[in-house]
Amino acid sequence: MSALAVLGGLRDTLLRMLPHRAPTGLRPIGRPGADAAVLVTGNYALTVRRLQRALAGRDVWLLVADSRGINVWCAAGGGHFTHHDVIAAVRAARLSERVEGRELVLPQLSATGVERRRIEEATGFRVRWGPAQADDLGAFLDRGRRVVARERAVRFPLRARLEMALIWGWPAALLSAAVAAGLGGWRTGAAVAVAVLASVTGLYAAVPRLPLRGWRRWPLFALFGVGGIGLGTLALAALGGIEGRSWAVLAVAALVADAALAVDFEGTTPWFVSSFAAAGHARIELEPERCSGAAECVQVCPRGVLAMDGGRRQVTITDPDACIRCAACIVQCPQDALRFRFDDGSVVEADTIRRTRLNLLGRRSVEVDGLRGPGA
Ligand code: SF4
Repeated sequence: MSALAVLGGLRDTLLRMLPHRAPTGLRPIGRPGADAAVLVTGNYALTVRRLQRALAGRDVWLLVADSRGINVWCAAGGGHFTHHDVIAAVRAARLSERVEGRELVLPQLSATGVERRRIEEATGFRVRWGPAQADDLGAFLDRGRRVVARERAVRFPLRARLEMALIWGWPAALLSAAVAAGLGGWRTGAAVAVAVLASVTGLYAAVPRLPLRGWRRWPLFALFGVGGIGLGTLALAALGGIEGRSWAVLAVAALVADAALAVDFEGTTPWFVSSFAAAGHARIELEPERCSGAAECVQVCPRGVLAMDGGRRQVTITDPDACIRCAACIVQCPQDALRFRFDDGSVVEADTIRRTRLNLLGRRSVEVDGLRGPGA
């Protein structure tokens, strides 16, 4: 990999909270023939870069549609990436003249906002859902474009958690270091940056073992703050800047950074429902009389909440507590058999979700049909 590509990847990673647009259009990876697979994605620069890396050595087409420079999951959930964008990309690339196959592979995580049937009706291409993670694309292609159940789940491995720590840690470290430097000099600022980065990294690394809600999170998060203060103190000593005021600034900055994260740690990641949104507690609900057993919901659920009951030829909700309210199942159900129900009995139906497309991973904050979601 060239130094330029490494620097570009680092820039895209550090600034991944911001939209980064890659050019749209049809790109060959390797030397694809007219019968090669066509994989669709959004034009988020980091995703395009990673897909090209994950697919290196293969011969496939990559159709990059306009997602406004936002990653597929967030863009689809927030209404910035829809079937209209995919249809426009198919037409602009004159895809039907360039490939023989009539199949598009869509990223599973686009199912929150991209309606499969609308693409098929408008383009004549059949849509197949790919795996949730780009890392599984190779195995998916080797298997004859077939997803296995474990590839539908969104994972949050250590690598992704450390990346998340870097994304949140560096702005927090920079900000607190600037304030600390103003109060106690540059050595204090540098030590605070070390302390904040260390405690934030420790928190993300420990996520699978941390209680993220409830009072127990406060002392635990404080412990990570203390760990950060320890490392910051070592840095301060190495820089020769230890004295009472500097150390006090360091301690306060590290604890404040951890306390800010403890308020809604879940809201800093797309893997969990934000604590604020969880307060209203909408639950996924299935109307069995409507379910025809198409099981499209099972194919797009990233949390294994739904399963096909072969005996009854119907879908069942097997693990409701795992639901992150992404609404992918509701958007794709051909019978409108799924919906959200809030504690007060009010419901959000499929039609509302398809129209508003503001189903950003449980953070519903719009007033729809006179009902107010829990994020409001
Ligand atoms: S809303 Fe819940 S059940 Fe439906 S796809 Fe998302 S996580 Fe799965």
